[in-house]
This record gives sequence, structure tokens and C-alpha cells, in this order.
Amino acid sequence: MTKRIFRAVLGISLLVCLIGMVTVFAWLYHYFDFQLTKELKNEAEYLAVSLETYGQDVLQNLSENSERVTLIQPDGTVVFDNYFDLDKLDNHAQREEIRQAMENGYATAVRKSDTFQKQTVYYAMKLANGDILRVSSTQYTVAAVLTGMIQPFLWILFSVLMLTGLLASRISHRIVEPLNRLDLENPEKNEAYDELAPLLTKISWQQKTIRNQLEQAKQKQEEFQMITDNMKEGLLLTDYRGDILSINTSALNLMGISPELQIFVANSKENVLMLNHSDVFRKVIDGVLEGKHQEAILEINGGYCQMTANPVMREDRLEGSVLLFIDITEQYQNEVLRREFTANVSHELKTPLTSISGFAEIMKDGFVRPEDVPQFAGKIFSESQRLIDLVGDIIKISQLDEDMLPYEKEDVDLYQLSQEIAERLKERAEHNRITLHITGQPTVVKTVRQIADEVIYNLCDNAIKYNRPDGTVDIFIEQEKEEIVLRVKDSGIGIPAADQRRVFERFYRVDKSHSKQIGGTGLGLSIVKHGAAYLGVKIGLESVVGKGSTFSLTWSENTKNAETTNA
Ligand code: ADP
Repeated sequence: MTKRIFRAVLGISLLVCLIGMVTVFAWLYHYFDFQLTKELKNEAEYLAVSLETYGQDVLQNLSENSERVTLIQPDGTVVFDNYFDLDKLDNHAQREEIRQAMENGYATAVRKSDTFQKQTVYYAMKLANGDILRVSSTQYTVAAVLTGMIQPFLWILFSVLMLTGLLASRISHRIVEPLNRLDLENPEKNEAYDELAPLLTKISWQQKTIRNQLEQAKQKQEEFQMITDNMKEGLLLTDYRGDILSINTSALNLMGISPELQIFVANSKENVLMLNHSDVFRKVIDGVLEGKHQEAILEINGGYCQMTANPVMREDRLEGSVLLFIDITEQYQNEVLRREFTANVSHELKTPLTSISGFAEIMKDGFVRPEDVPQFAGKIFSESQRLIDLVGDIIKISQLDEDMLPYEKEDVDLYQLSQEIAERLKERAEHNRITLHITGQPTVVKTVRQIADEVIYNLCDNAIKYNRPDGTVDIFIEQEKEEIVLRVKDSGIGIPAADQRRVFERFYRVDKSHSKQIGGTGLGLSIVKHGAAYLGVKIGLESVVGKGSTFSLTWSENTKNAETTNA
């Protein structure tokens, strides 16, 4: 800016100087030209009076330094000239000033001399006797004067250049310096020249407006971020090219972006396709950017995510897209489990039913001897019992699954409950030559009696079933700090480490034939797991093959949801 002001001031100064000089020169030249003509006229009039008074002899007295004087008769014959011999001068009748003086009484004329540097100015007047008196003088032409003045002119120009340069520099600095010192952050606090006041007021006003607008935009952005970040669903907004405009934390998590990369991805404004390279994802994005609603299920890092994509249109023009992600992993896995369960149930029900049907058919056809009928009827009875047990367990599991049991929690003495269960299992224990023993003292917990009964009963039943002859089953009820723990310990066959995680799965048995043979449905521990979850009780399992297993149930104030240590 300083340079521009400097150049402008310098340029204007030089232009003004040049115009001034040319004007002054022109005016002076014109003035001197006018003065010369006036002098010639005065001299001519003075000589005319002298001539008319004293005759032509007057002309002989003209000094050598005087102007050139010529006397011409009306026919053009030169009768006197103080500069040239008369015989060298031709007839002047056709000279411009002579002709005009003849007609008008006087005339002026200017003629170039032989050299371009000079010109002659003539003044001619008609005398009373008809002769023409002409006085002339030579002067420098404009070109000659200019040529002569070129050197001083250049010197003046140079001096003006230096002076204006100096002044322009100082002026430009004086103008620009306060501008450079302006504090635009606080425009009103500046002490610049008065002319800047309206500008500074306007800047200050605009700054306030911009600040307010930025504040509002930031507030809205924060509100939007807060709302979307608290959403369980993933939300992602893109522009019409698919570049990310906004992505919430849930979406970043669901897309499997690691926490350390999340800030980078959220601020990168990269294309949405960089989030997932699967064909399904690409298809959804391509579709939505063509303006079509899209839905798909994405598999990301072993989880499942329902993706819904909607185009954002304005007047038939695609502005961007809104993508919604919902974690359906649990739902998806439950669906798989349900399908497996249905298949297993059908299989489990089919086996005893086929046996029953087979035995009944043989009996119906009369292939069974009368003495064998009780044996066949016994087989039908035991298979039917198995079916009843199975259906009973399936009903229990379904009820726990639905989580719609109308039970209420109450104070239950675990010691007393264990005694009742032991009483119910006494016969079976004796039959298997197992000793049942309870250690502890009356311990009350807030729980659902019926489900707690079911869970403990199943554990004790298993402890008897998978035991060895003359083995033991011990129930321990203990208070440990803030927790109440019930342990069912047996001296049985134990569970291999590899199977310990899976025994809580539905229909999972370590030894299928053995389990069936002793009347297992494969649902006992699954009922235990679901029941414990319903009660908010933690399950534990420790087992050594050949030595026995210990299942534990822990009631704690902090146990909100059931967890299984090994399941
Ligand atoms: P089941 O009706 O077959 O007993 P469960 O769900 O109760 O089914 O148990 C699953 C499997 O876990 C059993 O088949 C058995 O192999 C194993 N199991 C359960 N409890 C014990 C235990 N106390 N000792 C050894 N194995 C056990």
C-alpha cells in the first residue's frame, strides 16, 4: 500500500509539474509574441507620423540596430529597406501583409526564416500617400525556444522528481503508518486519524455480528453433537459426494474405528467409503447417492449392524445423505440361537417319540410275548417320562427367556431351602449310593424362591447324577464379606476344562449317551444359567476330571446382572 500511495503521489506531482511547465511556456511564448507585434505596430505608427511630417529622409537616420523597415509603393516596388539592397529585392505586391494592408490599412504576418530556428513577424500599414510601411523583426520559433530550454527544463524536472519523491515517500508513510498500527481486534480503541472513524466503527460492528453468528453456530453444533453423541444409534451425515459432514461416537464405534483414530476420522471430512470396504457398504452408499432409500445388514468385527440410508433431497437435487446404524448383534445372535434351539428341540423330542411309537407298534401287531409286555410297557413309560421332563424343561427355559415371570422377590433362607431340596432328592441319592450333606447356618437372601429352588435343585441333581457310587454331595452356605455364597460340591466325574465353558449351552452334554442314559435332558445347566441371570446371581464353576466339580452361586448387593465365570 505504501508503494501504491508513493507511486500515485509521485505520478500526480510529475503530471502537474509537466502540465504547469507546458502551460507557462505556452503562455509566455504567446505573451512575447503579442508584445513583439505590439512593438512593431508602435514603431510603424511612429515612423509613419515621422514620414508624413518629414519625408522619406527620416528613414536614413534609422540606426543599424533598429528593426528592419521597408517602404513599398502601391505597385509593390520597394523604395526603401534598411537591411537589404533595393536591387536585390523583388516586387512585394503579392506579399501577404502588403496585400492585406492595401485592403485593410494594416496587416500582420509571420513567415518562417531560412533556418527552422527563426521566424519573422511583419507589421505593415498603409500611409496616407498609399505607400505601405512595413516593420519586421525576427524571433525564435517555438521549437528553437524549446530546444534551447531542454537542459534547464530537464534540471527542473529532475529537481521536481527528487523533491516529489521525497515528499511522496513521507506522505505515503504518514498515511500508511497509522493503518499498519490498527488493532483490528479492538477497532474502537485505535487512535488513528478522524477519517478512519466510520470505517473502524463499521469493522467493530461487523466483528460483533460475526462473533454472535459464530457463537450461535458453535452452540448449535455443540447441541447437535451432544444429542447425537448420546444416541445409542450411529448417525452419519454426508454431502452429495459422500464426504463425511458429521459422525457421532456410536457410528464410529459400530464401524469398528479404534478410539485413538476416532477424532481424526470425525474431523477428516473424508469420503464415507473409507470407513468400510465391503461390497455391501459400497452398494448402499452408491444407491443412496443416486437418491434411493437403502437398507442392509453389515458384519463388522464379528458384530452385526443394521444400516439404513436415506437421501436428502432439495427441489429434486441431492444435497447429501443420512445414514443410521443400529447394533443388532444380540438380536442376530439370539435369532441364530433360537433357530438352533428349535432344531435341537425337534431332534430331542423326536428320539423318545420314535422309540415310544416303535414299541407300541410291535405290541399292537402282537409280536410281543405276554411275559415281555411289562418290559416293553416299562420302556414306553421311561421314554414318556423323558418326554415329560424334556417338555417341562423347555417350558421353564421359555419362561425364563421371555423374562415375563410374575415372581416377586422375598426373604428366603438358603439353608432351609437347601434342606428341602435335599429331602426331595434323598431317594435318588440313596438309589445312587450318594451321601448328601449341608454345611452352614440359616442365611436369608432377597430372592425369588421358586427360581432359586430350581437352580439349586438342578445343581444338586447333576451332582448326584454325575457322581460315582458311594460318592458325596456337599452344600455349603457361607457369608463372605458382603456376599452370600452357596456351593454345590460333588466327588463325581468332573468336567474337562475344554467343556466347562460350554456345559451351560442348551443341549450341550460332555458325554451324550451317558447323560441320556441317566435321564438328562441337556437343559439343566441352561436353566441354571438363565435362572441365575433372572435373580442377578453370579455363577462359578471349578472342576477337575476324576475328582469332582464345585458350582457356586453368589448373591451380592452389586450383582445386577448374572454372569457366568466359565460359561
Ligand atoms: P443334563 O440334563 O444332560 O444333565 P445339563 O445341562 O444339566 O444337562 O448338564 C450339561 C452337561 O454338563 C451334562 O450332560 C454333563 O455332561 C455335564 N455336567 C453337569 N453337571 C455336572 C457335574 N456335576 N459333574 C460332571 N458333569 C456335569
